[in-house]
Amino acid sequence: MVAVGDHVRAIGWLHPDHPYTKGEVSAEFLSRLKEFVAHCSQSANALYFGAFGGFHTCEFCDKALGIANFGAPSDDLLFVAPEMVVHYIQQHGYCPPAEFVAAVLKSPLPNTEEYQLTTEPFWHMHKKRIERLLRRVEPGR
Ligand SMILES: [Zn+2]
Repeated sequence: MVAVGDHVRAIGWLHPDHPYTKGEVSAEFLSRLKEFVAHCSQSANALYFGAFGGFHTCEFCDKALGIANFGAPSDDLLFVAPEMVVHYIQQHGYCPPAEFVAAVLKSPLPNTEEYQLTTEPFWHMHKKRIERLLRRVEPGR
């Protein structure tokens, strides 16, 4: 996981062994979600995500590959989703939770200054955590 904590809600890490909610999503949500995905790297920078865990292949069809993740803030919660979430929705009928849909519709887009400001508290939280982990790996840092 790229971010951990009570504030993090992971969305859209699907696997065939686990059932998931299916249903229609609105065109408005889908097009906004695609904008978040298009700006994954800005989102990752704004949220201090650090290094990613590597490629992730779609376990359902083996036809899609993703590496990046993005975050959608909603007050003091942060929804974190992989870029593959769009593939899951379009190809596998995934219907993400209403709270996530609302956060994506409400949050500023990652390529805006407003997003930087909204996500700043998360940036600090994630930076502190990564620094703590690094100190454990390399004492004296
Ligand atoms: Zn697939």
